[in-house]
Amino acid sequence: MATYKAPLRDMQFVLNELLEVDQTLAALPDFAEVTPDVINQYLESSAQFAENELAPLNQTGDIEGCKLENGVVTTPKGFKEAYQQFCEQGYSSICCAPAYGGQGMPLTLGLPLMEMQISANVAWSMYPGLSHGAYSALLAHGSDELRQRYLPKLVSGIWTGTMCLTEPQCGTDLGLIKTRAIANDDGSYSITGTKIFISAGEHDMAENILHLVLARLPDSPKDIKGLSLFLVPKWIPDAAGNPATRNAISAGSLEHKMGIKGNATAVMNLDGAQGWLLGEVNKGMACMFTMMNAARLGIGMHGLGLGEIACQNAVAYAQERVQMRALSGTKHADLPADPLIVHPDIRRMLLTGKAYNEGARAFSYWLALQLDIEEHASDEAQRQDAADLVALLTPIAKAFMTDNGYTVTNLSQQVFGGHGYIRETGMEQFVRDARISMIYEGTNGIQALDLIGRKIMMDQGQKLRKFTKIVHKFCQAQADDAAMSEFITPLQQLLKDITDLTMAIGMQAMTNRDEVGAAAVDYLRLLGHLVYGYFWARMAKVALTKQASAPAPFYVAKLATARFYYSRLMTETATLKASIQSGAKNLMEIEEDAFALGY
Ligand SMILES: Cc1cc2nc3c(=O)[nH]c(=O)nc-3n(C[C@H](O)[C@H](O)[C@H](O)COP(=O)(O)OP(=O)(O)OC[C@H]3O[C@@H](n4cnc5c(N)ncnc54)[C@H](O)[C@@H]3O)c2cc1C
Repeated sequence: MATYKAPLRDMQFVLNELLEVDQTLAALPDFAEVTPDVINQYLESSAQFAENELAPLNQTGDIEGCKLENGVVTTPKGFKEAYQQFCEQGYSSICCAPAYGGQGMPLTLGLPLMEMQISANVAWSMYPGLSHGAYSALLAHGSDELRQRYLPKLVSGIWTGTMCLTEPQCGTDLGLIKTRAIANDDGSYSITGTKIFISAGEHDMAENILHLVLARLPDSPKDIKGLSLFLVPKWIPDAAGNPATRNAISAGSLEHKMGIKGNATAVMNLDGAQGWLLGEVNKGMACMFTMMNAARLGIGMHGLGLGEIACQNAVAYAQERVQMRALSGTKHADLPADPLIVHPDIRRMLLTGKAYNEGARAFSYWLALQLDIEEHASDEAQRQDAADLVALLTPIAKAFMTDNGYTVTNLSQQVFGGHGYIRETGMEQFVRDARISMIYEGTNGIQALDLIGRKIMMDQGQKLRKFTKIVHKFCQAQADDAAMSEFITPLQQLLKDITDLTMAIGMQAMTNRDEVGAAAVDYLRLLGHLVYGYFWARMAKVALTKQASAPAPFYVAKLATARFYYSRLMTETATLKASIQSGAKNLMEIEEDAFALGY
């Protein structure tokens, strides 16, 4: 069975040594007291919860799955009890507003805790994860009355939340939504329709479920501009706030699916369910967008969390399992063969995991810090800069991190050979669990279109320049450090290539919009490597500096991993560049019918 140990040393390295988050947080009025000691206390207690309470339920949850009988969903054994403990120990309220019973901690602290929960048990982690999305939407767009009525119980975790967007005929194109909302005389709405694939749509872990539902009023535009967002509780509370009336929203069935089996993915039927408007009529998508960045970063964390646990187990296996002798001569003469970890190809797979995971950790924690700045800085210009960086880099966090996370789970399974394919070791579960993160919350292909289209082309590259300036400044600051040149030279070259390519795609798009779509996925990966390359160069700098004053194997390994990233992973940019430059013609010239000509 797979095991999990929270990577506390690396988390502390990123938060305290690389990003020095306490200095940034100290300048934000709400977080002046979030010192490294406070952060470490949360990390350590959360690590224990993830390792001891959640991880043991991961494989059993996968085998048992969720069951629907007579409208009631039963989650796997132990899920409910773990959730109760989670709430009792205050984890559900850590990053929520004190006005509603939250602890008011920054997302910069919440994200590492989320990473641990995902690593230990991703299916379980989605129940509180979705609640937080619902919390953010309700906080931003609910009326005072709705917030007072619903937020405290969402914050304490007594009630959970969902996001109900997808319908049978639409996932990516939400403009096709058919669910109808009709105004009632009392200011509420009557909502009818079918939502599919709703994560945590029905379960037995909380006394009430608050569904956030996108629906259309009869006289609203028939496209994406005609959607409104509604709060539809499973149980409508009475005046005292206790669940009182069963609402007409129920689970019709549960999906049978590839992974995350401990999370109930439900078809939700609404038969005139009573709902309350959040935000304004026809502004449903705008309401969704306010929480989209944090939600997409949350899904990006699935890539890191699952990559981390898969890689940890692959390392342990490679150290223990003996097969063949090292090509360069026997390394462990006392053993009948050498451990797998002596073989270069095994090292390639393990280092790919280590490099992608640690790059993702540095990037995502930094992005969480930007989200905190965006929301809490007192200076308007600082907030705007952070908002632009978040908007630009969120699609990369979602898509690059989950694509890489899937690669890492796959390679980690490969390290186990045939033992990774059978169920007992738990490795195949990580691959299955990781796959969905590339699909939901906007597929990775759609993230790429969002990046290049909305985030870059539509604002003439202004947001992109805000990030490239940061990278450029860092490179300039290393000009006199010869030890850094192995990182700075390729990083500067990539900066230049991206600037040139962005201009070239922009020019081509003026005559053919398909050029943007044809370049999008490769372009996102190219930018992803710029981001990870920047953070790996920064990590190398810290490691070099620390190594000079306080040598430690941790810094030696950091430096070696930075070198691996630069020479074996970031070099993918050459292929990506060539692919982008080949243009749209090789994709578009084949006739639609010709795809099926060979059979
Ligand atoms: C396990 C699971 C849990 C989920 N949880 C939730 C949930 O809690 N709430 C919720 O509302 N939804 C949820 N979803 C739905 C999920 O978000 C959608 O499946 C996803 O957004 C894709 O929509 P679709 O499946 O309809 O695919 P489609 O929209 O039909 O897309 C099919 C393919 O076409 C591509 N594509 C579509 N349009 C374009 C374009 N213009 N250019 C290029 N490529 C394009 C897509 O990238 C995709 O690869 C969940 C799904 C699953 C499987």
